[in-house]
Amino acid sequence: MLNKNITILDEKRKTHSKASEEYISVKFEYPDLSKVFEIWVPVEYRRTGVSIKTNEELNEFLNKVYEDMNPNNYEEWLEVQEKFWKDEKPGAGVTKSFFDELKKGGWKCVECQLPSNPNWARRIQDLKEFGYTIATDTKKYCQHCGANKTHLMLLPIPRGLSLGTGYETWTPALRKRILSVLRNFDVYENRSNNHLLPDHKFSEIRWDENTKEDNPDTMSDEEIRTKFQLISNQRNQQKREVCRTCYQTKKRGVIFGIPFFYEGGLDWPEGVPEKGKDAEKGCIGCGWYDIEKWRKELVKVLDELKNEGEVF
Ligand SMILES: [Zn+2]
Ligand SMILES: [Zn+2]
Repeated sequence: MLNKNITILDEKRKTHSKASEEYISVKFEYPDLSKVFEIWVPVEYRRTGVSIKTNEELNEFLNKVYEDMNPNNYEEWLEVQEKFWKDEKPGAGVTKSFFDELKKGGWKCVECQLPSNPNWARRIQDLKEFGYTIATDTKKYCQHCGANKTHLMLLPIPRGLSLGTGYETWTPALRKRILSVLRNFDVYENRSNNHLLPDHKFSEIRWDENTKEDNPDTMSDEEIRTKFQLISNQRNQQKREVCRTCYQTKKRGVIFGIPFFYEGGLDWPEGVPEKGKDAEKGCIGCGWYDIEKWRKELVKVLDELKNEGEVF
């Protein structure tokens, strides 16, 4: 049953065909707080995996969004977001400036209310990829512009975090292929496991706005092997911590407590940028970057020592 403080303003779904998104126009009332929101709630929204088909699903979903959007939750929501930007997206200043306008709520005209940027659509795409829920009205009248303009509305609800990562930039089909190409092999545990996640070898914390995530379904097996490894969700979280610490301290990560680097050493290499595509060079040699390669290189060293009669 739909919460009595929710009114569906238009049964007909609004569509944004270019993005394959659909929204429902609703009114949320919070009588105790004297607040009323008129918003568009996405009901088909690929980025966070929302796809509402039946009325029952719709009611349940709107009730949830209504709770999430309770004005009492806003401050806490904002705190979580600021921490996300600071810890996970330190290089995304331009995209953050769009967020900083959109977080205020309501419709924002891209011409006169959002940062002036010829590539605004790309920044919005980034926000969606980060898990934000944003409705688009491509022809809403702007009083200031005196014309119909694209307007955007960000809903202050938790970011869509499928599988705990928030970086699902691949389709379910590609995900399945990655798991299959990498043979469900957990490179951390060094054994097969059916509950694994693709992990970008190159940590997201070092991406910048130009390190565009492009994982087409057609990517080759070789590209998959170059770009991804499989680890559990728990290790994925651990790696993110390790990579964040490395980013902040310039001391690279140690895996299994073994301070071995097949290239470079503990220190982040001189002259390698901290962010962006070229930063990947600084990750090479670290165990967390490519765990299987690290293991093989370590075994090689042990074999050499063995041949020299140093060990075994
Ligand atoms: Zn305007
Ligand atoms: Zn990714």
